[in-house]
Amino acid sequence: MPAIDALIAEAELSEVRISEAMADARHNMEICNACRYCEGFCAVFPAMQRHREFSAADLNHLANLCHGCQGCFYACQYAPPHPWGINVPQAFALVRAESYAFHAWPKPMGRLFERNGTIVSVVTALAVALVLLLVGALQSSGTMLAPHTGPGAFFAVISYDAMVYSAAATFLYALLAMSLTTASFWRASGGKIRFIHFARALHDAMTLRNLGGGGDGCNYPTESFSFTRRWLHHAMAYGFLLCFAATSVATVFHHAMGWVAPYSLLSAPVILGTVGGIMMLIGTIGLLWLKVLADPEPAAKAVLGGDYAMLILLASVAKTGLLLLVLRSTSAMGWLLALHLGFVLALFVALPYSKMIHALFRTAALARDHAER
Ligand code: SF4
Ligand code: SF4
Repeated sequence: MPAIDALIAEAELSEVRISEAMADARHNMEICNACRYCEGFCAVFPAMQRHREFSAADLNHLANLCHGCQGCFYACQYAPPHPWGINVPQAFALVRAESYAFHAWPKPMGRLFERNGTIVSVVTALAVALVLLLVGALQSSGTMLAPHTGPGAFFAVISYDAMVYSAAATFLYALLAMSLTTASFWRASGGKIRFIHFARALHDAMTLRNLGGGGDGCNYPTESFSFTRRWLHHAMAYGFLLCFAATSVATVFHHAMGWVAPYSLLSAPVILGTVGGIMMLIGTIGLLWLKVLADPEPAAKAVLGGDYAMLILLASVAKTGLLLLVLRSTSAMGWLLALHLGFVLALFVALPYSKMIHALFRTAALARDHAER
């Protein structure tokens, strides 16, 4: 098997690990490069055509350029049951997951990617349990179950310092880990960034341009063309950003203005958080539903657990946040606040080792693509 020999030789020379998934992706790309039927489908095929051979770094780059729209799978005359078994979305999904694990910071945490769904679930359970236990131990049941209203009501249940320091520590850790992980991927792909390439990549990522197909949408969850996944992804991602904006504005209110939460229903943090929470909930539940309906053939079963776990965690953050808003002046507020904070902490801890890292890897791959063009 000369192809396997070449891979082993490359593994010895390259920093990037060669795996079975990568060998399969290379097999796919070599046949696609001869066929080229799908060259107008997305950014992957024109990028593929710039290569005559595919190094591990090239395959990582192409895999992260792929949005998993499934168009090439349904168009392919060599897809299973054809003996060549061409299945580009499945092959690239596995290589992408390996690239997240390989570049993860710190290195030992990369192993978390290998059991992603389980890890996200365990981190969630532990974070929620920890916050509930701490709150239960530090507060009397009377305080937890009593209704609190007016400025400082939340801090009567969990102190401001405990809330802010735990959230800040986990968020800054996530930011550092995600930055170093993406930098490692960027260095390995050999990309040289210029501002214009980054700006174009950001535009493509923010508009999910490659999920538009040729103008009719992508082939997800089934062979029919649809924009549903694109709109649900937009709802989830922009909802998440609005919730982040709500927290940032609330921080400015607290420190710069001296205004203490909870804020009125017409205040900026509450409006941003409510709209963002509803969008996140619609997006995550919709994407979960599409996953249930999706054709299993082009999917990579090994990564599905992680995808489900992260969507459920994001939905839990949104749902408990909205419930907290609705019930904040009732006796349910204390435990709801502890539950919501637990899910938020779990999200921050799991972020660098979950599917969420794809947003940064894909933007980096798009930037390299623009640079190569
Ligand atoms: S996915 Fe199939 S049809 Fe498309 S370029 Fe590759 S081999 Fe050709
Ligand atoms: S699944 Fe979609 S985005 Fe990925 S290579 Fe095929 S056509 Fe391109």
